[in-house]
Amino acid sequence: MSVTLPKALPRSLCRQLAGIEDVVWFKKDLRVLDHPPLVEASQRGPVVACYLLEPSLLGAPDADALHWNFARQALEELADALALRGAPLLVLHGEAVECFAHLRESLGFKRLWSHEETGNTLTYRRDRAVAVWSQNEGISWQEYPNNAVVRALRNRDTWSAEWNRRMRPEPLDAPAKLGKWRGPALPLGALPPADALKLTPFAERTPTVQKGGTSAGLRRLDAFLNGRGRDYSKRMSSPATAWSSCSRLSPYLTHGCVSMRMAVHLATDGLARLKAMRRAERPIQLGSVSAFLGRCHWHCHFIQKLESEPRAEHSNFHRGFEGLRDDGPSDDVLAQFLAGQTGFPFVDACLRSLRATGWINFRMRAMLTSFAAFPLWLDWRRFRDPLARCFIDYEPGIHISQLQMQSGVTGINTVRIYNPIKQGLDHDPDGSFTRRWVPEVAALPSELIHTPWKAGAFMLEAKGIQLGRTYPKPMIDLSSSLRQARAKLGAARRADSFRSENQRVYQKHGSRKGSATRRHHGRDAAIFNRPKPTEPPKPKSNQLELFP
Ligand SMILES: Cc1cc2nc3c(=O)[nH]c(=O)nc-3n(C[C@H](O)[C@H](O)[C@H](O)COP(=O)(O)OP(=O)(O)OC[C@H]3O[C@@H](n4cnc5c(N)ncnc54)[C@H](O)[C@@H]3O)c2cc1C
Repeated sequence: MSVTLPKALPRSLCRQLAGIEDVVWFKKDLRVLDHPPLVEASQRGPVVACYLLEPSLLGAPDADALHWNFARQALEELADALALRGAPLLVLHGEAVECFAHLRESLGFKRLWSHEETGNTLTYRRDRAVAVWSQNEGISWQEYPNNAVVRALRNRDTWSAEWNRRMRPEPLDAPAKLGKWRGPALPLGALPPADALKLTPFAERTPTVQKGGTSAGLRRLDAFLNGRGRDYSKRMSSPATAWSSCSRLSPYLTHGCVSMRMAVHLATDGLARLKAMRRAERPIQLGSVSAFLGRCHWHCHFIQKLESEPRAEHSNFHRGFEGLRDDGPSDDVLAQFLAGQTGFPFVDACLRSLRATGWINFRMRAMLTSFAAFPLWLDWRRFRDPLARCFIDYEPGIHISQLQMQSGVTGINTVRIYNPIKQGLDHDPDGSFTRRWVPEVAALPSELIHTPWKAGAFMLEAKGIQLGRTYPKPMIDLSSSLRQARAKLGAARRADSFRSENQRVYQKHGSRKGSATRRHHGRDAAIFNRPKPTEPPKPKSNQLELFP
């Protein structure tokens, strides 16, 4: 099946839309609530909304059917919400400038409205091309911030204040009226399935994959704030409990079904309500809501890093680490890791679960990255795109910054090397999560489920397990691989130029976070604003921290 969406509009549609001067371009902001460009455009006159299926982005190595399926559901809901207000959603297939040129020819529109996007090199170049085209065509293109990420940020010290300033205003209502359109919500036809766009899934997915749309996102957040997030702080680390105890808001933020400001306001209001209750009556602890709000801040903090230094998509934040893993292993090692066939059951369980569901909790993402980067000694750029394809919430700014941080190449963060066996014992002590995803070793008792190689020959025989045949033997010797990784990383950190580059990275990207809760808009909110240090934290003699 191939895609049949047009690049240009049929004549009859052009006639119906003739004279409309304002086009709102939806990208990663698939909502009508709290959408400043939509509100501003609607105040000028009737609006046409558009969404572009860009072949260059759909064919990129980080694109996956997982992302499109989520966006497609969100777009269907968005189209209905727009149609209800009198605007059609035109979904066009083509590169941005080409599509806008056709729209210009068909409608003669004068103004283009959109949110800013911090994506990758492709979206940056695309936006540059649209800016040049708009200027040449005399079209005014108005872009609005989508969150607290600041374009052309001069000084990181002022960033937290900017976060407060952007999050403070009440989220905007959806415009009541966008035009007089009475036709179908998607006048150019139904949205194509992933295979029509030549998008393949990285792995087979289960029906538990999250569904797109603002209503689904708001329901998730509401349920989290009203009880599901109870014990969030305690339950977020285990992949088994995090599944239901984390907010699971990330794909809705990534695709913009829910704005960051909406999330922050809903949580802040929730916090105020909780405070008015007696402790025993609270459906969720104050600390859990504060912890959630703190993470909303991190969301923008990490995207800001890529916005401020786009070269980080392809290079280490700390240039002193360039070439560090040039002696990394063959692609077979990478393939074994990505397939969840490492021979370490907890690592394999996390990977297989991620592949199947599109989500895993933060700690396990960190452990997976650490496992790939340290004992396997893989450069993060080798697994950047495959993992991006596994995450339903794939957000380049967070993904790239976190991969680098967990691989130890930012220079400014404490390096944490997770021991996957200890992580399994701590976060899946009875082995139920591991058993579910690695049935090959499910018959082992809990004390051996994370280390099947320690089971005696009789035990393995009795349980029908043949290491190397029914389940892989560990693909590396963990202790010696970790020793070598620590030695190589330590040597790079002792290089003469390490300190000065460290200083540069800290000035540009370092977190100036502070006390967890401070007054915000007359309410308490988890807005981090610690007095700014001007120096990076002093490197300790050994900053490698083997996470037990
Ligand atoms: C290697 C790696 C890659 C990651 N890639 C992504 C990604 O592509 N997209 C993404 O949204 N998150 C990413 N994260 C961060 C984090 O794992 C997810 O945001 C979180 O697991 C999403 O689940 P949740 O919505 O239930 O989070 P919650 O714990 O409920 O947190 C609420 C929100 O805060 C934000 N958040 C939480 N933790 C972090 C964090 N450590 N850094 C930045 N923002 C955070 C997210 O927007 C999240 O939705 C990555 C982490 C690692 C270690």
